[in-house]
Amino acid sequence: MQSSHYINAIVALVVFRRRCPHRKRKTVFSFVVRGVIRTFALENALKSAKKMIKKSEFLIIGSGVAGMSYALKVANAGKGKVTLICKTTLEEANTAKAQGGIASVTNLLVDNFEKHIEDTMIAGDYISDPAAVEQVVRNAPKGIQDLVKWGVNFDKKEDGEFDLHREGGHSEFRILHHADDTGAEIQRGLMEAVRCNPNIEILENHFAVEIITQHHLGIRVTRRTPDIECYGAYVLNPETGKVDTYLSKVTLMATGGTGAIYATTSNPNIATGDGIAMVYRAKGKVQDMEFVQFHPTVLYNPKETHPAYLITEAMRGYGGILRLPNGEEFMQKYDERLSLAPRDIVARAIDREMKIHGLDHVCLDVTHKDPEETKHHFPNIYAKCLSIGIDITKQYIPVAPSAHYMCGGIKVDLDGQSSIRRLYAVGECSCTGLHGGNRLASNSLIEAVVYADAAAKHSLEVIDGYDYNDKVPEWNDEGTMTNEEKVLIAQDVKEVNQIMSTYVGIVRSDLRLHRAWERLDLLYEETEHLFKRVKPTKDICELRNMINVGYLITRQALERKESRGLHYTIDYAKHALDK
Ligand SMILES: Cc1cc2nc3c(=O)[nH]c(=O)nc-3n(C[C@H](O)[C@H](O)[C@H](O)COP(=O)(O)OP(=O)(O)OC[C@H]3O[C@@H](n4cnc5c(N)ncnc54)[C@H](O)[C@@H]3O)c2cc1C
Repeated sequence: MQSSHYINAIVALVVFRRRCPHRKRKTVFSFVVRGVIRTFALENALKSAKKMIKKSEFLIIGSGVAGMSYALKVANAGKGKVTLICKTTLEEANTAKAQGGIASVTNLLVDNFEKHIEDTMIAGDYISDPAAVEQVVRNAPKGIQDLVKWGVNFDKKEDGEFDLHREGGHSEFRILHHADDTGAEIQRGLMEAVRCNPNIEILENHFAVEIITQHHLGIRVTRRTPDIECYGAYVLNPETGKVDTYLSKVTLMATGGTGAIYATTSNPNIATGDGIAMVYRAKGKVQDMEFVQFHPTVLYNPKETHPAYLITEAMRGYGGILRLPNGEEFMQKYDERLSLAPRDIVARAIDREMKIHGLDHVCLDVTHKDPEETKHHFPNIYAKCLSIGIDITKQYIPVAPSAHYMCGGIKVDLDGQSSIRRLYAVGECSCTGLHGGNRLASNSLIEAVVYADAAAKHSLEVIDGYDYNDKVPEWNDEGTMTNEEKVLIAQDVKEVNQIMSTYVGIVRSDLRLHRAWERLDLLYEETEHLFKRVKPTKDICELRNMINVGYLITRQALERKESRGLHYTIDYAKHALDK
């Protein structure tokens, strides 16, 4: 009941009191007053029951390798309650998709930390932060021990030693793996461990909308405000459709990557860069967003774009040849190593050929190889392609590059602390400085484990100095209506995908980037306007985040006036270090 209804009821009572005979008037009058009071009390009780304030010492947003590793570390220290939220199911995360493996120096007879450090610096085009590289490489073996302790299995040889693979850019065999589904095994092991831990409360299908800072207390916060603090997050409850208040002493952002803002990606749909967008809106520091890694060969299938099916680079190592659909080879124009050239060169060459010939894809050819051998080495790829009518032993595999990994993100220090106090960021949403201009294969899973440990140690050290901020107001959605215009959101998501893939893809120019900026700006205005009018839903929140992240990639790409690492622009085509 609104306040106007109460005023009407009081007016009616006054009129009634004047007109009615005394005795009857007294009984009816008290009956009505009691009714109004009861309605009022009931309504208030209902209101506070619907609005929920939840408190936990540690709030973790995201349940991939980063979020779950941190959760286990802090939960086992016994310093309070841990709430772990994820926006869909616990299973759905980039982590579960990782195929190759996890890098760590484990065989000191042939390998050493210096070599892994050097390989990482070379891959990062010497933009990587040496301190972050040292931290990850030197602590990697301990990170592997933690994973094994939590129940993750890695393949071993008959002598009991880890079976190590070698990948592009690594000078030694140092990739631990579990067959070709290492990520799924890590996700499985960690899920079992967090589910068994009584200190961890897991909330699936809970969507973090915003982190809470002084801004929500009515204080003006700008990018120059010192000591911005995080008091928790506003979280969308799937059962009530309401935004609840989650107060915490410390919060960890572990929301993963951004691939889903592009038209095709190897990432699942969850990778909309939510954490990066939330922190940016809260005026936190975000860095290196121009460095987006594209995988050169994902299966071209317009029906399966988020995630698109990855055709492993091992297939080129096996002898796969890149061709145009008419059978013509093209890699000789770009690199003497032909189809075996490094990932970025191949991705750029394919992108160029597709643009020159107006193609949606090029092809990978293994038809010259022994069919039985192909089926034996690549049973999953063989089965997958066959399921869409392509027999790879007889036909070309249609492939195109797709967004794969975000090297930048929420800027953090060696303890995983963001520029906002009480807020940590770990995993793909963070920018530790490890990857610099480009990620060395299999360095991201280990980065997440090592930084989860550092962030856990730091937050356990400082948590006693923090308290809940009880002044935080509840989410205000007064006056907003239910969003009936889903078609607008679906269309806008497609537009963001198209803008990013067309103008902010593998090969860039100032002209294309400016065009993207203008288009994204238009979408931003429209979406913010819509967001203020409707009740928040996961869809509209994701759209806002995708626009924010698209803008950040575009702006930071425009700011980098050189071709370096993964950022390649035809306006400054010569590599920065060749000048
Ligand atoms: C196909 C593929 C192959 C790969 N291969 C390798 C490899 O071989 N080696 C390697 O090192 N790396 C690899 N990577 C990269 C690596 O898998 C990821 O970088 C890493 O797993 C990211 O882990 P994360 O915990 O940061 O994020 P994720 O595992 O993506 O988890 C993100 C979590 O955040 C949650 N979330 C997001 N937004 C919200 C929100 N608003 N509210 C609540 N929850 C939210 C999601 O629900 C999810 O639980 C690969 C990636 C892909 C896609």
